[in-house]
Amino acid sequence: MSDKILESLIRAEIRRQKETLDLIPSENIVSHNVLAALGSPLTNKYAEGYPGARYYGGNQYVDQIENLCRARALKLFLRQQADYKKWSVNVQPYSGSPANLAVLLALVPTGEKFMGMRLDMGGHLTHGHKVSATGKLWQAIHYGVDEKTELLNYENILRLARKERPKLIIAGFTAYPRQIDFKKFRRIADAVHAYLMVDMSHFAGLVAGGAHPSPFPYADVVTTTTHKTLRGPRGAMIFTNRESRTANRNKVDIAKAVDKAVFPGLQGGPHVNQIAATAVALKEDATQQFKKYVHQIVKNSQALARELQRLGWRVVSGGTDTHLLLLDVAERGIGGKEASDKLEQNGIIANKNTIPYDHRPPMDPSGIRLGTPALTTRGMKEKEMKIVAGFINDVLAKNENVLALVKKLCRKFPIE
Ligand SMILES: *Cc1c(COP(=O)(O)O)cnc(C)c1O
Repeated sequence: MSDKILESLIRAEIRRQKETLDLIPSENIVSHNVLAALGSPLTNKYAEGYPGARYYGGNQYVDQIENLCRARALKLFLRQQADYKKWSVNVQPYSGSPANLAVLLALVPTGEKFMGMRLDMGGHLTHGHKVSATGKLWQAIHYGVDEKTELLNYENILRLARKERPKLIIAGFTAYPRQIDFKKFRRIADAVHAYLMVDMSHFAGLVAGGAHPSPFPYADVVTTTTHKTLRGPRGAMIFTNRESRTANRNKVDIAKAVDKAVFPGLQGGPHVNQIAATAVALKEDATQQFKKYVHQIVKNSQALARELQRLGWRVVSGGTDTHLLLLDVAERGIGGKEASDKLEQNGIIANKNTIPYDHRPPMDPSGIRLGTPALTTRGMKEKEMKIVAGFINDVLAKNENVLALVKKLCRKFPIE
């Protein structure tokens, strides 16, 4: 690269990634093939519209790329040919947030109600938080988790839905460590004739590899980012069920409505290089190796949780069955900000996070969120999770410096 300033910054960032333990559950490490597609001259091309119906010339190869990406996406999540004919997928959203906004624009008239999880209990900003466009343009009704169990309480969600009668209900979270019962969410949505939208951004990889139940038998719409457990480039996809009963009742072609909301509703030209890189990732996600990988992610987060518990830490909801866990650090007298800062000084990258019914402010909450996708990509297993839990405990409980040991572990598990 002839831009020396930028080159040195990129090199520094690569080195940072190599020499630190990334425990942020929404991050991962993509393959060279994904990077190659992302950095290809496909970025030069404008392709407003959809395959076969573009506003620009010269799209014969781009059409094939987008169609390939769509076919791979459907095949990955819908094993039966009959099923993937029922579903449509849009691979153009620039990222997860605009994908969620597009679904709301398509299916819920502005000013009306939809329901989602509160941000401070594990929901996402785009599930109707007041600072998000989704909370300004619609009336967001929020459910939380049970105060005792810290788990979803489906009876309470049903009661709230009956009272508020939202047009759409979102299931799928950013900081909830447990599996979600999509069948129960379907029953709740049916009880009030609402659409069920599952935002599987965080656990999509686990669904693809069979380590988490699939939302596809129950949802009307499924959104996902492509850069988290799916291990692709930054981006998003929206799946719509053409045979959705809710859509039929409302006489809406939801696939068409979503396509129109993405383009021209919200976006202009799709990022073709990003779509190609997603197609590359989706091929990797269909392998036996990926299946093993996602099962290992879950084994690793459970091993991490168990060891932290053994060392006397409280894990929210008592454990995890996904790729992430929430650690209550305030219980041991440490703020979430202080905890994540201290860990960062020791080469351990995590993020501070609220825990359910948190009594501390969001900028310095009671917890930290830990996830295992990136460490698992580096090849770490249960044995290393015990070591990492030990590092965390040494830093937070004993104020020890583990930076040199962290670097040593990183060198043993290099980034490809
Ligand atoms: C990450 C995430 C998003 C948003 O994705 P961005 O690509 O960061 O915009 C939306 N919903 C959930 C549940 C997420 O975890």
